[in-house]
Amino acid sequence: MLANLLDFDLEGLAAYCGDLGEKRFRATQLFRWIHQKGAGDFAQMSDLAKSLRDKLAGAAEIRPLAVISEHVSADGTVKWLFDVGAGDAIETVFIPEDDRGTLCISSQAGCAVGCRFCSTGHQGFSRNLTTGEIVAQLWHAEHQLRLRLNLPAGERAISNVVMMGMGEPLQNYSALLPALRVMLDDHAYGLSRRRVTVSTSGVVPMVERLRDDCPVSLAVSLHAPDDALRDQLVPLNKKYPLHELLAACRRYLESAPRDFITFEYCMLDGVNDGLAQADALVRLVRQADVACKFNLIPFNPFPASGLTRSPHERVLAFARRLQESGLVTTIRKTRGDDIDAACGQLAGEVQDRTRAGVRLRRVPITVVQSAQRA
Ligand code: SAH
Ligand code: SF4
Repeated sequence: MLANLLDFDLEGLAAYCGDLGEKRFRATQLFRWIHQKGAGDFAQMSDLAKSLRDKLAGAAEIRPLAVISEHVSADGTVKWLFDVGAGDAIETVFIPEDDRGTLCISSQAGCAVGCRFCSTGHQGFSRNLTTGEIVAQLWHAEHQLRLRLNLPAGERAISNVVMMGMGEPLQNYSALLPALRVMLDDHAYGLSRRRVTVSTSGVVPMVERLRDDCPVSLAVSLHAPDDALRDQLVPLNKKYPLHELLAACRRYLESAPRDFITFEYCMLDGVNDGLAQADALVRLVRQADVACKFNLIPFNPFPASGLTRSPHERVLAFARRLQESGLVTTIRKTRGDDIDAACGQLAGEVQDRTRAGVRLRRVPITVVQSAQRA
């Protein structure tokens, strides 16, 4: 099998080239061809010696993902569905805005966390993506968009990456880490640490690892102000309860590129959207002493969830309550929902190995009212 050069960060590529008897600067040249120029084959790499190009052609490849479909929304959002083999498909979404272009990348085929309100969670888990498959999403999107948008040489289409597609990135840490390094490398995509965001449902030990290995912006999917409710919405909470998660967030801030954690909060009608729950949330983050911003995500419904989106007025009231308590709070605009590209709608297609859909279907949620009495 040919080595996939998208699997390597620059260090890895230098080691690979070393094994071929090549100097480090050759690895840098190669890395720039692949990631800055979007080269897909070695013949294009005109400043590499013919002997090296031939050597590479026999041993390695730049392995793209097979595109199943591409949809463009009325608002300019683009969604790609990629085939990753054995019946698994993953999704990647590009969200253009006036001052930035954000790519939402998947980290796994499916997800094993099984959050109640997430269609990926309902699909269950098939497998981790490789580094090459994570990086290939960015490689494909960046170079396709440059062509499509007719960008001048050197200008980038993608300025921000969010690991908010399918999967829990911190449950695929060993593949994630080199992929983050490729995103940040000046010889590749050169994204700033502030503009690369890992979103996690709260894998506490890996939050600690990320802080030490490669601190980037961190978003934490909170969704509930207390353990009783969060246990039901985000099952991982039973393993890593809120006090441990918030302590990890506080420690993360010691090396984070931004001085706040973003807390994501999916607004579910009658479940987690009461004003008393907003107050409980304020107490929670104040007691834990975590500098944070809130991003409220109106729930994007899908039939099997049995849940509904909070009415807009309730989302506004909840946001206002947090803001009045001094917490910076935004409401996420829904983008690309006409092509099912909004948060939590990324279903792809996954050969479930966990029977998650059966387990999660219509288990009623008990809203413990202690937060509301307070
Ligand atoms: N596994 C990671 C990242 C992927 S999910 C995580 O959970 O953080 C990205 C975001 O979309 C998370 O905040 C998640 O809670 C949210 N989300 C999932 N399903 C959703 C839905 N149906 N509607 C709105 N947001 C949803
Ligand atoms: Fe997995 Fe995130 Fe969906 Fe939860 S919200 S099931 S962690 S992808």
